[in-house]
Amino acid sequence: MIEGKIENIAGTEKDWPADLVLLAMGFLGPDHNVSDPLALEYDQRSNFKAEYGQYQTSVDNVFAAGDCRRGQSLVVRAINEGREAAREIDRFLIGSTQLP
Ligand SMILES: Cc1cc2nc3c(=O)[nH]c(=O)nc-3n(C[C@H](O)[C@H](O)[C@H](O)COP(=O)(O)OP(=O)(O)OC[C@H]3O[C@@H](n4cnc5c(N)ncnc54)[C@H](O)[C@@H]3O)c2cc1C
Repeated sequence: MIEGKIENIAGTEKDWPADLVLLAMGFLGPDHNVSDPLALEYDQRSNFKAEYGQYQTSVDNVFAAGDCRRGQSLVVRAINEGREAAREIDRFLIGSTQLP
């Protein structure tokens, strides 16, 4: 089974009587409704595949940073990746960059 992918296993169904059910499922990965038509590659957890520090996806002119790239994390990491991705996009567009 691929990690993060939910599959039904025949014969394991159970019924529990309940008045209220709360599902605590956490972050299951980014939506793919934009990335599927672009044919982006995904990692094993269904995040957009892009190297840390480079942020370029499997499609040349598409970059990914933050939770959609690394999976659920922290605001400070998302800000850091966003700034670094801006630097890499600048380099991609202009050929050099002065961004940190
Ligand atoms: C309940 C909860 C509590 C958390 N608490 C903390 C905490 O205490 N401290 C901490 O550091 N981190 C916390 N985090 C994690 C933190 O919120 C994330 O790591 C961070 O927000 C990731 O930033 P991001 O920019 O990568 O993604 P996001 O903040 O998820 O931003 C992605 C944006 O893209 C938009 N978007 C998606 N699809 C499309 C589309 N097709 N078109 C246009 N826009 C689109 C979304 O609406 C969203 O605004 C928490 C997360 C959750 C869910």
